[in-house]
Amino acid sequence: MSELTPITVARGDGIGPEIMDATLRVLQAAGARIAPEFIEIGQQQYLAGHSSGIAPEAWDSLRRTKVFLKAPITTPQGGGFKSLNVTIRKTLGLYANVRPCVSYAPFVRTLHPQMNLVIVRENEEDLYAGIEHRQTDEVYQCLKLITRPGCEKIVRYAFEYARRHGRKKVTCMTKDNIMKMTDGLFHRVFDEIAPQYPEIETEHLIIDIGAARLATRPERFDVIVTPNLYGDILSDIAAELTGSVGLAPSANIGDHVAMFEAIHGSAPDIAGKGIANPSGLLLAAVMMLVHIGQPAVAETVHNAWLRTIEDGVHTAELHGSLSIGRPFGSMDFADAVIERLGQRPEQLAAVRYTQADARGAAPTAAIQVKVQRRAPAVKTLVGVDVFVHAADVNPDALAGQLCALATPSLALQMITNRGVKVWPAGFPETFCTDHWRCRFVAPQGQAVTHADIVGLLQALTAGGVDVIKTENLCTFDGERGYALGQGQ
Ligand code: NAD
Repeated sequence: MSELTPITVARGDGIGPEIMDATLRVLQAAGARIAPEFIEIGQQQYLAGHSSGIAPEAWDSLRRTKVFLKAPITTPQGGGFKSLNVTIRKTLGLYANVRPCVSYAPFVRTLHPQMNLVIVRENEEDLYAGIEHRQTDEVYQCLKLITRPGCEKIVRYAFEYARRHGRKKVTCMTKDNIMKMTDGLFHRVFDEIAPQYPEIETEHLIIDIGAARLATRPERFDVIVTPNLYGDILSDIAAELTGSVGLAPSANIGDHVAMFEAIHGSAPDIAGKGIANPSGLLLAAVMMLVHIGQPAVAETVHNAWLRTIEDGVHTAELHGSLSIGRPFGSMDFADAVIERLGQRPEQLAAVRYTQADARGAAPTAAIQVKVQRRAPAVKTLVGVDVFVHAADVNPDALAGQLCALATPSLALQMITNRGVKVWPAGFPETFCTDHWRCRFVAPQGQAVTHADIVGLLQALTAGGVDVIKTENLCTFDGERGYALGQGQ
């Protein structure tokens, strides 16, 4: 018998303790060689003044065990509280969110019996950076940050996952017809990496049609890789399509630490009743067992669970014509899985995890993605976008004021409002807010200096212009590093 693997366990809020107890009971009965260390997270920690819902000492356990089995928590309403999940993902570098979504028809009712896909969602970037500002009376901003290393890691992870699991196709979804620079980078990196996996079919879909097709024909997808926000939305849609959000597990994978949890929340509406389905967390624990090198136990638990579902042992939210008896409670369901340890499903496809999975081909952690940082480009400053707060002003009047104040090294080229060009040659019909993006470039197109920009800002502010912020306009190795703006 090999040593016990320490894991960090949090029982969470709402239904969390019920489904965690049920899950741990199955793991123990199946002979999982784990040594749980319990930490406190969630509502009590938020209320105790820990703004991210986790006590400082809990991080020590996470950093020591590097494996986290987490029950859902309740996020308190109101300001001042940070998302625990976002904090853990970003602090511990859990860059890949892996969400398998599988149908178990006919035992779980679904319109999509053939569905078996995995969503690989980028987990650290995008609009989730939490960099938000109120800039004017009328305008609020959230920064969308997409990085080349972030794209390379997640796209490569998705292809490695597909290769090691015998998956045939990877679909990339972005909105790069609109966000040409940020989502465009994600798509470009996908196109760069795809040829290194010639045995895998690839496609790219714009996220709107991609989401529509996922909702109507999910069986056409295999692995989907996508930026953070789209992945967040798509993975809930996909889980719901399988018939129940209560069944779906997820893994959050980083180079050093991995976190495993159900995708659903703390379900306060049914908390304390002992009726919640522990399956999402149990299947997350199966992913964890593979991750920590116990594929045989993972296989035993997963196949027993499939057999349990097949035998009609169902919790309340799954109860239907193929269910036996009354709905099973969380613990009775766990006991039914335990009774079937060693059995395999007869109609649903049995799973197989091997030691090779654990060593080099694990669904999760054994995939190590290395990103080569590139040499810095030659960066040339060519202008500046000055964002201005001005109410009750028309674009021509604002342009007149700015042109009169501008310094010789930087001339006003255009003004946009919410991205629509309003000067020169704007349309009177365009609705304008109090937030103006004013682009200044060198009159002859020559390079400019930071001192030129500081000089311009001094002149504008001395003239009474309310400058909110600036964005430098640069070229990188001669390539434009900024959008031209709508209407151009
Ligand atoms: P939810 O997933 O908790 O519940 C949505 C619906 O699904 C409810 O009707 C619930 O009863 C049902 N449901 C969920 N899990 C179930 C299970 N295992 N068995 C049977 N039915 C189940 O979503 P919500 O109501 O939007 O959120 C409740 C709380 O959970 C909120 O505070 C939210 O912030 C939090 N939340 C936490 C996590 C997490 O910790 N990872 C994720 C999502 C939501």
